[in-house]
Amino acid sequence: MSRYLIKKYKALEPYIPGEQPQDMRYVKLNTNESPFPPSPAVVKALSAAEVKKLRLYSDPEARALTRAIADYYGISEAQVLCGNGSDEILAFIYTAFSDKENGMIYPEISYGFYPVFSALIGEPPCSVPLKEDYTVDVDEYLGRGKHVVIANPNAPTGICLSLTDIERLAEKNAGRLVIVDEAYIDFGGESAIPLLKKYENLIVVQTFSKSRSLAGARLGFCAASEEIIADLKKIKYSFNPYNVNRLTALAGKAAIEDTEYFGKCVAEIIRVREFTVEELKKLGFTVLPSKANFIFAGHADKDGKRLYEELKARGVLVRYFDKERLRGFVRITIGSKKDMKTLIQTVKEGMDNPR
Ligand code: PMP
Repeated sequence: MSRYLIKKYKALEPYIPGEQPQDMRYVKLNTNESPFPPSPAVVKALSAAEVKKLRLYSDPEARALTRAIADYYGISEAQVLCGNGSDEILAFIYTAFSDKENGMIYPEISYGFYPVFSALIGEPPCSVPLKEDYTVDVDEYLGRGKHVVIANPNAPTGICLSLTDIERLAEKNAGRLVIVDEAYIDFGGESAIPLLKKYENLIVVQTFSKSRSLAGARLGFCAASEEIIADLKKIKYSFNPYNVNRLTALAGKAAIEDTEYFGKCVAEIIRVREFTVEELKKLGFTVLPSKANFIFAGHADKDGKRLYEELKARGVLVRYFDKERLRGFVRITIGSKKDMKTLIQTVKEGMDNPR
């Protein structure tokens, strides 16, 4: 730490991203990326002519992309804001709407960035335990006088709330925001975007990193009322006006317009997820019911750390969380069928030859 870091950040514990080895030595199942490349339409959109245009700034409003997203979801352009990954969108939301008096409440087990954002902006962290079965206890979030942040499906459990539950959260928290982080919604959940017509306090956050294979392009967005989007733009223009770069905006537009490719990729990931769950259950694993592109799995004979280490030593990278109630599990991203066959084979080897 340098002597210049200001006092309020001295104790800040930043988010730790999953390992990103750059040499492709591993079957990489640790950060919920797609096993499929982006749509061929994306490759076509990123032409040499467009690369040459990188000398020019991007459109600060990312209009063509915003229009494509708005059309896809049947909402107005003024209801959409794009960002440099959904992490940036979440940062804008926390900055705009949260402080010591207007705190956020979220599940104790959820996306690790939520408490980090709380700490960054100086609001006291406030979380609610999950139920015994690892589901979100919706009743605990009603009328608490705080803005609610829910990842749906939740991470790292993969468990999804119904739209009825999301609606209950919005209805019973009038005057407070309900932020639904739908990073994994396309893998079997139901998006809350249609509820925007009914609830002015709802913000839905999505990403192109998972179901649209663009994690490296960094693109996320949120959908909300025009007033909320205007507030968020105020923050964006006070922070980073050209937050979506030219190539990412083109890639995102091409990706969301290629509905056929998207549908095929998502369907295959769901199929491979169900195959993996069945295979792991045959080996005696407990697997939480997932509607995401990952599963949370544990085995009575080994804790999560041991599983993680054994798999890593054999060339398969998964994610382990050193946190209460999570230590019995590893989070496994759903890769290609071949990746998952390798995973199952490696798990079997680990069981036959314990290290
Ligand atoms: N929300 C959740 C629940 C996530 O798991 C992630 C991925 N780490 C994100 C948001 C952020 O995704 P990105 O910034 O790549 O859009």
